[in-house]
Amino acid sequence: MLDLQLLMLAIAITGLLLGGAVSDRRLAIDVLRDTELALERTMRAAAAAELASGLAHELNQPLAAASNYVRASRLMAADPGAHGPRLIEAMDSAVSEMRRASDVVRRLRDFFRSGAVEFKETSVHDLVDVGARAWHERARRNSVELRIDVPRDLPRVYADPTQIGIVLHNLVTNALDAVESQGRGTVVVTAGAEPDDAVRVTVADSGPGLSTAVSHGLFRPFSTTKVDGLGLGLAISRSIVEQHGGRLYADEQVAGEGARFHLVLPSGKLA
Ligand code: ADP
Repeated sequence: MLDLQLLMLAIAITGLLLGGAVSDRRLAIDVLRDTELALERTMRAAAAAELASGLAHELNQPLAAASNYVRASRLMAADPGAHGPRLIEAMDSAVSEMRRASDVVRRLRDFFRSGAVEFKETSVHDLVDVGARAWHERARRNSVELRIDVPRDLPRVYADPTQIGIVLHNLVTNALDAVESQGRGTVVVTAGAEPDDAVRVTVADSGPGLSTAVSHGLFRPFSTTKVDGLGLGLAISRSIVEQHGGRLYADEQVAGEGARFHLVLPSGKLA
């Protein structure tokens, strides 16, 4: 995000110079405001795209469950006398799954509209758990060994589960991409308490690691080595983590080893 701030500063300075040149301050201010708005919109659209891909699996789960309940209800409806109470139970469950799905869509829409962040006290175990099923499925499909070892009894953190969910999703899918590019390998997600009253989540993989060229621009927007990459995942993730008062960084690359990313979140409430 520092790059973006620098870019904004550059635009601001350019805008002011332009103001001097045409001696029309109002025009300069309008140009500046339009550019700021355009940048803000672009970043918000990019963040929403990241959010949407992060939420896709969260949406799939309730939709699949709802369709199973409706299918079961249909079978039971053939003989309502025998299945009456269970039929009603299954239909109620279908409705609550659909509510869960629409809640996910609501969060996406709210974020797109206002960028609202909803902090709540939660455990890192639960934050990781949301994405775990989808990551395991992908790892199984591609013969990658995925190990998730996050204790339940770590200090609780104060976070927006949707946003930290995106960060974790980015880290794990980047690790899976890296390992899959080599055919096979391992991704390990661990977590532990830090001495300075924080909780650390580490995502390590046995992929090709970060080349010097890549690691320089790692957290810069639009830096990607993937044909279909946007290069926004890590940039957006870092800005989300910083908004939480935390840190997101990669270890210095050790030759012959894969990449290792750390997400550190302060425990308890933000001041
Ligand atoms: P994208 O995934 O769209 O490329 P990111 O910002 O998430 O955007 O990642 C930027 C770049 O960082 C990737 O293109 C890749 O080169 C590098 N990278 C990220 N994670 C890893 C990893 N675990 N192993 C190797 N390279 C990685």
